[in-house]
Amino acid sequence: MKTVSGEIRLRTKPDFDMLDITGQVSMFVAESGIKSGTVTVFVVGSTAAVSTVEFEPGMMKDIPASLEKIAPSGADYEHHKTWGCDNGKSHVRATLIGPGITVPVIGGKLPLGAWQQIVLMELDTKPRDRTVVLQVSGE
Ligand code: ZN
Repeated sequence: MKTVSGEIRLRTKPDFDMLDITGQVSMFVAESGIKSGTVTVFVVGSTAAVSTVEFEPGMMKDIPASLEKIAPSGADYEHHKTWGCDNGKSHVRATLIGPGITVPVIGGKLPLGAWQQIVLMELDTKPRDRTVVLQVSGE
């Protein structure tokens, strides 16, 4: 078994940004030479998330609108008292979606649906420089 690690660095916009990283993840897997195994995609930090989505303009609006109902911007977050910051909603949203995913590698490819892209979601209230760690294991 072989393991190859790497990372993607991205600049994001605040208060919801969604970046399609499918191409970078697929390229990383292809360059690793691993044909059968798994790839882990993990964002460093507790106010961003990684998931899959149908990457189209409607979802760019539907996801933040839905997150606004689950963890509203105007709500009182205890987190603000802890650090004097303003991103309690960002932490709650990021934790609910999760920091990473694992995708099977089959025949050197990711078995994603035609309308399923791997995305980094920025949930923080400030623009951020993000590091997404990639690790592919297999043979
Ligand atoms: Zn905070």
